[in-house]
Amino acid sequence: MIDFHCHLDLFDDPQQVASACERAGIYVLSVTTTPKAWPKTAALAKGKRYIRTALGLHPELAHERFGEVSLLERLLGETRYVGEIGLDGSPAHRQHAAVQLKVFERILAASHDRGGHIYTVHSRGAADAVLTSLQKYRCASTAVLHWFSGSKTELKAAVALDCWFSVGPAMLRSEKGRALAAQMPKDRVLTETDGPFARSGKRPLTPADANVATMQLATLWSMSETEATSHIKRNLKELLSRVPGK
Ligand code: MN
Repeated sequence: MIDFHCHLDLFDDPQQVASACERAGIYVLSVTTTPKAWPKTAALAKGKRYIRTALGLHPELAHERFGEVSLLERLLGETRYVGEIGLDGSPAHRQHAAVQLKVFERILAASHDRGGHIYTVHSRGAADAVLTSLQKYRCASTAVLHWFSGSKTELKAAVALDCWFSVGPAMLRSEKGRALAAQMPKDRVLTETDGPFARSGKRPLTPADANVATMQLATLWSMSETEATSHIKRNLKELLSRVPGK
């Protein structure tokens, strides 16, 4: 099972969730929302075979945390994964669009200078702008658009730009989300949960819920669950082969 976008450090008991993932053999990309969270969050993966940590600065925090971009730049050499990064153009956050863009592009430029990373990218209400920035710094990086919610035209543009996608149970619950997922190239799709932010009713999703996304994808792809599981695993291998480890 693969959870390619999860906020391990934001669970009530991160250590317990990390150990449960390890026991169950769940591959987790544990993303950070601020560079300052890096040391503590990276420590959660210590001694764990399947947990990787991404270095990020969430667009919703960009206006408060832009001072941490230089810390992020200094830490870039320590990881193969960068995220959560991106832009948020939804009504609550669009007043900070300018600072978000500055932060996002500074991170992309710094990563570009260091030979690229695998990105997990937030693009709510800002798919077009995210793609414009990614196009500027394509190089050796591969961007995985997490919980993509743009239009079908924007999806086509993302596919043309060689983007990958991670989809979770919350996205696949809606008809629009399923329609988008059905249009994504099967060979560029991974599962995620976005837990604990994303929920199932009142319960925060945990990495084990990536399973629900796998089942939903199996239906969309007309595959058995076993076939979908191995397909997604192959996708992950292919993605990792594109960007060398640090
Ligand atoms: Mn997230």
